[in-house]
Amino acid sequence: MAHWPDGHRYAATVSFDFDAEEVWIGENPANASAPGVLSQGTYGPKVGLPLMLKLLEKHEVTGSFYICGKDALRHPDAVRAIVEAGHEVAHHGHSHTSPTKQSEQEERDELRRGLEALQELGADVVGYRSPSWEFSAHTLDLLVETGFTYSSNLLDDLVPYMHPHHDIMEVPVAWILDDAPHFWFANDTWEKTIRSPREVLDVWLPEIDGIAALGGHVMITTHPMISGRPSRLAMLDTVIGHLKDTGAWIAPTRAIAAYAREHGPLQLDLNV
Ligand code: ZN
Repeated sequence: MAHWPDGHRYAATVSFDFDAEEVWIGENPANASAPGVLSQGTYGPKVGLPLMLKLLEKHEVTGSFYICGKDALRHPDAVRAIVEAGHEVAHHGHSHTSPTKQSEQEERDELRRGLEALQELGADVVGYRSPSWEFSAHTLDLLVETGFTYSSNLLDDLVPYMHPHHDIMEVPVAWILDDAPHFWFANDTWEKTIRSPREVLDVWLPEIDGIAALGGHVMITTHPMISGRPSRLAMLDTVIGHLKDTGAWIAPTRAIAAYAREHGPLQLDLNV
């Protein structure tokens, strides 16, 4: 195997879905006038993000940040700070609305407006992660039309691969390595339990080790409003340390996608 650069046995990306207020407005438009609900999102850029940027700097890791255009307009200094620190900024919708709920023209407009908002703040954007990890019937066509080179939305592999009918590299995600299913608390229903970081580490570290053994790519997805809490930052510190200790090539999604484009198709090592 050894298909990753410099002899690294596997690859990993530390990615962040910025979300902030837009995710709550996307959940329920009435939240736009609910300052308490929105403040859960505001915690991300206000407190979580600076702490996360410090953590990435400590580990000398370049991350990938998926940002809604409307959140970027609301928090331009946060986006500038991400760009200035050298991290990847990528597209996460203009509003936090699933493409499946939009007409083709609405989806095209969302892509264009979100892209403009990020580019105005100095970001060079080549990747797209939809707010729902879902495509409409038009999404892939529109990504090609708008000039994107990769998508990070589907959950069907442990290595990046090319979409069969579109010039788009897919860099897969996974719910198991996303912080939201473990920590997301919805104060309208109280249906979600908040897990302890220790419990989530018990889920994440063996999953990372398993992907490493297969020579795959680990996609960690966190949210500044969720994992920007002190106890979870300590957990993320442990996770990044583990990735480094076990020989991961840690790179932003765009670099993973570019590498797979040049050297792919990448194969898992099934002889472990
Ligand atoms: Zn999101």
